[in-house]
Amino acid sequence: MVTLKYQNLAFSEKEGRIRILFLKIYYFYLDRKELEKIGKLRVNRHSISFRTDKREENVRQKFEFMLTQGFEHLVSTVNGKPALYVHRNSGIPLIGSNDFGIIDRGTNTIEIKPLTTCNIDCIFCSVDHLKRHSDIVVETDYLIEELKKVIEKKENRVNIHIGSQGDPSLYGELVRLVREIRKIRKVNAISMVTNGILINRTMADKLIKAGMTHFHISLHSLDPERASRLANAPYPVKKVMETCRYIVKHAHLLLVPVWMAGINDKDVEDVILFGKEIGADLGVQNYLEYSFGKKPVNPMPMKLFFMKIKELEKKLEVNLTTLNEDLGFKVDTKLKKPFRKGDTINVEIKARGRLLNSYIAVAGERIVTVISSDNLKGHVKARIIRDKDNIFSAVPA
Ligand code: SF4
Repeated sequence: MVTLKYQNLAFSEKEGRIRILFLKIYYFYLDRKELEKIGKLRVNRHSISFRTDKREENVRQKFEFMLTQGFEHLVSTVNGKPALYVHRNSGIPLIGSNDFGIIDRGTNTIEIKPLTTCNIDCIFCSVDHLKRHSDIVVETDYLIEELKKVIEKKENRVNIHIGSQGDPSLYGELVRLVREIRKIRKVNAISMVTNGILINRTMADKLIKAGMTHFHISLHSLDPERASRLANAPYPVKKVMETCRYIVKHAHLLLVPVWMAGINDKDVEDVILFGKEIGADLGVQNYLEYSFGKKPVNPMPMKLFFMKIKELEKKLEVNLTTLNEDLGFKVDTKLKKPFRKGDTINVEIKARGRLLNSYIAVAGERIVTVISSDNLKGHVKARIIRDKDNIFSAVPA
């Protein structure tokens, strides 16, 4: 009998198929009959056993070959969309995309995005999950390895901000990710932005113990009905407020409501007063319009927004801050851009992108998002149309 154990996988059986849950929220199936070519099998939560005389190495090799094929059919349990697993052998780098991986904007704060999945559907979301046709999840060890390379290039100690085009609290290895980041000597603050739904006391304790220093909670209203309307999903406002009360006693808490003029003006004031009452910092964000985001209202011009922020500070007797101020922003070394806007380069198409008519392509050590309605495959020539902050978009040349 050979038993193979996997912490990140949970096995179960369903109608002659073995269901494999990966990182708690993604799954795929393997056919039992196919697997039994290795040997009669039995599954436990985190292990699979084969009755065979073969050596463990051989069994592992065969099983992991089938696992690799299964990963091609990974699906998110949260939204039913296909999911792409980006790992160190996937041939996909982690710099170059706004959707996942590592973003360096030439400061002492490096942003990491371990996944794209979200558990709600805010009416103002800059991502608009309905327009995204797939999810992406990144391997923890790969993310850490690549993050270390970026950190080495920085002159100052760095802050690591865990953001995402979804909610980081859904990342099955979030605690381990934070623990591994904390081991890196040059790291100062570790922060995350979250809608707070999945953060309870136990989770907050685990994250703080692992090394999380700053929580940015996007609370947009204290009224349960309006909060759910803004989240476009049931939003447990009272529970999130309780979590805020707890976190503020043990870590740095910044409340970051998004202000949509004419929609949640009064709610933003309520959130500020709540933050003031519990001793949290407050960083109101102006709703901004993005090409592929939701558009519930016209955005407030930035000049007007800052004027209104000053008025609110006076009226409510508070100091409002920004994410950069919260983490102590400093300009630092920028990663070199291997190519520039206007350049024509060779890219290799690796996968479909999250948006219709987009592809995840690779050129050297960068991801390039190629926009095209053609059916692209293999190597293609592409012209770079965006290069800001080492985030690259291109069109076929
Ligand atoms: S929590 Fe963030 S990512 Fe999720 S829907 Fe709301 S705004 Fe979008």
